[in-house]
Amino acid sequence: MFQRIAVIGAGTMGNGIAHVFAQYGFSVHLADNNESQLQKALTTIAANADRQVAKEIIDAGQKQSLLGRISTFTSLPEAVADADLCIEAVSEKFGLKEQIFQVLDAHAPARCILASNTSSISITRIAAITRRPGKVIGMHFMNPVPVMKLVEVINGLSTEKQVTDAIIDLCSKIGKTPAPAEDYPGFIANRILMPMINEAIYALQEGVADIASIDTIMKLGMAHPMGPLQLADFIGLDTCLQIMRVLQEGFGQPKYAPAPLLVNMVTAGKLGVKSGEGFYTYTGGSKTAVPNHSLTRLHR
Ligand code: NAD
Repeated sequence: MFQRIAVIGAGTMGNGIAHVFAQYGFSVHLADNNESQLQKALTTIAANADRQVAKEIIDAGQKQSLLGRISTFTSLPEAVADADLCIEAVSEKFGLKEQIFQVLDAHAPARCILASNTSSISITRIAAITRRPGKVIGMHFMNPVPVMKLVEVINGLSTEKQVTDAIIDLCSKIGKTPAPAEDYPGFIANRILMPMINEAIYALQEGVADIASIDTIMKLGMAHPMGPLQLADFIGLDTCLQIMRVLQEGFGQPKYAPAPLLVNMVTAGKLGVKSGEGFYTYTGGSKTAVPNHSLTRLHR
């Protein structure tokens, strides 16, 4: 059923999604409106494939085949013209996704399933933009996509059962474990994860502990692979903020209010790994925790 996959957005998630589909033999059209993002994505995919070769997950020939299956596009209509499945992975803003799904609906074949990798935006709301709401579904991959096994599969209110079944089957064909969830704000993963990250930022803002201490307590104390502040940097602070806003708006409860420090850091362009600085600074492959006093004037 699926042969040609179009991935829209070549950022953190888009390059990983393209990588995995190409690794498992699918032809991938990777689209972004920014040519330099496409070039950066190809470099990242090649570097990650090298890592897989070093770990003997794939061999050098498979790496070349993987790279050969990915074509890049700056024109969205061209990228999706013959797609069986489009997976949207542009920034977490409803207005942007709205524009993208209008184009996907107008230019992708009628049979094509339209998936969103959104972390929190309602799939039903995205589906309502299109004339094919039954063929719209959430495929929430985890970062880094080539490594993480989970795909949270989100049914919109109108998603057809055969579409859900086909996507669940497809996840298994790309070595992933699908787990279904219904369309409520944040679904399951981020409804539980983001309030924890937000609370860690509140604790930092209130001076309860410094960055290293908060992350060490949560990492060693809860057996998490990384602390919540490092994870926030990894996800992108802008993405974390957008998700908190979706939870706040969707549930209308004050417990989902984003920490003011998170808002300030996004406003200041400190977005985490992707901007080179968040709760840590990232230089030459190493990370250093930012001192509390340089993040909040409260404790200077
Ligand atoms: P990102 O900022 O790294 O990448 C977004 C990409 O979208 C950029 O390359 C940008 O150039 C591109 N883009 C913006 N406008 C576009 C347009 N009009 N047409 C084509 N491309 C356009 O973002 P990301 O972290 O990869 O997140 C993408 C989606 O995945 C979001 O919905 C996010 O919530 C979700 N997500 C993120 C993570 C994570 O850990 N970062 C995990 C799961 C899901």
